[in-house]
Amino acid sequence: MAFWRSKKTPTSETESPQDPPAEPGSGSPDTSRSEPTAGSSAGLLGRIRSGLQKTRQALNTDIRDLFKGDGRLVDDEFLGELFAKLIRTDMGAGPAEELRDDIGKRFRGRKVHEEEVIDSIVQQTIQMLEQDAAPLNLADKPTVILVVGVNGSGKTTSIGKLSHFLASSGKTIVLGAGDTFRAAAVEQLTIWSQRIGCDIVTAGQGADPASVAYKTVEKAIQTDADVAIIDTAGRLQTQSNLMQELDKIRRVVGKHNADAPHEVLLVLDATAGQNALSQARGFSEAAGCTGIILAKLDGSARGGVILPIRRQFELPVRFVGLGEGIEDIAEFDAESFARALFKD
Ligand code: GDP
Ligand code: MG
Repeated sequence: MAFWRSKKTPTSETESPQDPPAEPGSGSPDTSRSEPTAGSSAGLLGRIRSGLQKTRQALNTDIRDLFKGDGRLVDDEFLGELFAKLIRTDMGAGPAEELRDDIGKRFRGRKVHEEEVIDSIVQQTIQMLEQDAAPLNLADKPTVILVVGVNGSGKTTSIGKLSHFLASSGKTIVLGAGDTFRAAAVEQLTIWSQRIGCDIVTAGQGADPASVAYKTVEKAIQTDADVAIIDTAGRLQTQSNLMQELDKIRRVVGKHNADAPHEVLLVLDATAGQNALSQARGFSEAAGCTGIILAKLDGSARGGVILPIRRQFELPVRFVGLGEGIEDIAEFDAESFARALFKD
């Protein structure tokens, strides 16, 4: 497990011309929270819990509101109200119906206490979220990881946090500033590389990102680094020139090693809403993604969005982003997540 260290956030970047409309605003450094115990799993769970705090508080208050004193009869009225509460977390109608129906099957006609209902929901959610174990494929040296997604979803920040996570377990990293669209993007990644103490390959604004990607892998080979992580400019599936550019990046890193890129991680913004996520599905298929980083879970009370994501994407959720600080990332785990979502 990672050993958490310093706590500064690099300057956030400005938006680029190819942004989709409503981008989230740029964040400011988060210096408010205290550090967890170094390397302890309690620290990690605490982090997941604090990342999901907004969702949990909303849900808990909501679900507990359904109960008065010594329990409540589970009937159609109760189930309808429960459904309305669940759906407010952005989990979508399908998952909310499943959870409601499961409670109906178990308890209909009985008087229940809130803890019974919440425990049941947690168990059912764990089942819905469960996925095959999906650690990053780090067997090859260097392992090449390409990070993609729409603009502002959290790619560069996630790369910084992921690099720290990997460096903390002894991996050596080379970063590639493949978002050559804006100078600010290169600066942002450079600051991360300084914080982590790893090499970075950059090129001027407007340079060919495929060339940056190629040189990044080359540098990783020369320096015997374990992992090369390549940032990319934000793009949408509809921007065919940018999708072709992504293909080219894939091809050139493949010249170093036919298996590269070993991972193509799609960064999704948990605050983006379900439509944005459905659109991202087409993108992930076109870009040959191998896993998801779900960023900004801390930013909203809609952490339930993890459920439609597990459903809409054939891809495993590898990591969740829980803030802007260097240690605000966690490997996804269904049980910790479901508990952090519903349990006080
Ligand atoms: P990119 O355009 O996809 O590279 O996105 P950035 O990494 O620049 O992130 C866009 C904004 O979201 C920045 O202000 C980040 O600090 C912020 N951000 C990224 N990840 C997270 C997260 O997990 N939680 C929060 N609260 N903010 C995040
Ligand atoms: Mg970026």
